[in-house]
Amino acid sequence: MNPTALLAEAEALLPELAALRHDLHRIPEIGLELPLTQARVLEALDGLGLEVSTGAVLGSVVAVLRGGRPGPAVLLRGDMDALPVTEDSGEAFTSTHEGVMHACGHDLHVAGLVGAARLLAARRDELAGSVVLMFQPGEEGFHGARTMIEEGVLDAAGERVVAAYGVHVVSSMVPLGVVTGRPGTQMAASDQLYVRVRGRGGHGSMPHLAADPVTVAAEIVLALQTAVTRQFDAHDPVVVSVGRIAAGTVDNVIPEVAEIDATVRTFSHEQHAMIPERLTRVAEHVAAAHGLTADVVYERGYPVTVNDAAEVARAERVVTDLLGEGRYETALRPVSGAEDFSYVLQEVPGAFLFVGATPAGADPATAPYNHSAQARFDDSSLAVSAAVLAGLALDRLAQG
Ligand SMILES: [Zn+2]
Repeated sequence: MNPTALLAEAEALLPELAALRHDLHRIPEIGLELPLTQARVLEALDGLGLEVSTGAVLGSVVAVLRGGRPGPAVLLRGDMDALPVTEDSGEAFTSTHEGVMHACGHDLHVAGLVGAARLLAARRDELAGSVVLMFQPGEEGFHGARTMIEEGVLDAAGERVVAAYGVHVVSSMVPLGVVTGRPGTQMAASDQLYVRVRGRGGHGSMPHLAADPVTVAAEIVLALQTAVTRQFDAHDPVVVSVGRIAAGTVDNVIPEVAEIDATVRTFSHEQHAMIPERLTRVAEHVAAAHGLTADVVYERGYPVTVNDAAEVARAERVVTDLLGEGRYETALRPVSGAEDFSYVLQEVPGAFLFVGATPAGADPATAPYNHSAQARFDDSSLAVSAAVLAGLALDRLAQG
């Protein structure tokens, strides 16, 4: 791979990639069916000589690029869906879909992956193996990656891919054009805990004749925090935040039920495996101690996103070769958000990286972050994403 040529070509593609990104930004779609986005992706890939297929039960696009020489297959992924946010970014290409916005930058992921496809297609003859391009809907809570795996994306080239790579743009925190990653845990697992404390309603003046779920719910909220500090290794953090608590109608009526909803974040497969049983036990037994019952529903969200150490080392080398010294930074800590590329990295080694897209001139410390209605992403990051994705595929295939 000639890194200078690859980056120069990616930068030459910038006007075209930015135009595609702006088109997608105007027509954001939510969930697993993204008909307008899917059609735009198919149009962008047309003429590149790829083997293109679309999802059976979701609006995905899988494109396989066959190299001129034999070799293994690698996977590059870009997610495509938007969020239920009313855009307030002030961009000229603002959303035309009421209440829907590409607030997480997935429009840049699509355009960046199209850019990588163009760069790789231009090098088809020197490519020793195949590249699977995974255009994924439903990242924002819909488990789209898991469904694409069930539909065979990892074997789309006719054999299991040997490595998988993805990038995520961020509109603050990381300076423009800087790429970050870390070996091991890159992002958290995110689950939901729903507790319904069931008591017996009554008059507030005579609580001994009722069974008050409010005091028990309050005790459960605090007991969950005690469990976090007493039952889990402090060096392998667990975060439990009760975001919603609800009960009753008026000051002098003891209600029948109190509701607690919490988000649960873990950073290792071990903690993720053991936490449902422990939190359920705390809620049920605190309720039982007072003669009440707690119905607990524990819902699994996305698993922990774990990077392969050797693939992160490759990413550091590829980014530095492409962009120069100082453009790759090792993230000191995992990100406490969650990501469904985790399902891919459970199956094959790979790396998930963050690409700084803080708008030029904005302060990375204060610029609105992903998911904000004001979030803005710098178009120049598209060349970085395209070059890094293509560079990772080229480097891995050169290894044989
Ligand atoms: Zn995202």
